Amino acid sequence: MAVTGWIEVNEALCKGCELCVHYCPVHVLALDEERLTPQGYHPAVLVAEGCTGCTLCAVVCPEGAITVYREEKPKRRARAAA
Ligand code: SF4
Ligand code: SF4
Repeated sequence: MAVTGWIEVNEALCKGCELCVHYCPVHVLALDEERLTPQGYHPAVLVAEGCTGCTLCAVVCPEGAITVYREEKPKRRARAAA
């Protein structure tokens, strides 16, 4: 079963420390240099597909700003119409 994940960053809490960016094993996080949070920090965002939902980013975030979601996707086989 393929597992896909995605995250949500609570921008009211994120302080742009970049810890999550450095710890993500598949390198799909970055700071959004073009936006600022209400507190004036560049927020962390997902920048690519490939998040596995491993939760490492949420574990290391000192602000508790990340929520991780996971979804198991059953493999689908394309079937040609007979
Ligand atoms: S859940 Fe894992 S793979 Fe997904 S963004 Fe966080 S550290 Fe990266
Ligand atoms: S670890 Fe938390 S506070 Fe730091 S950049 Fe990532 S989401 Fe923001």
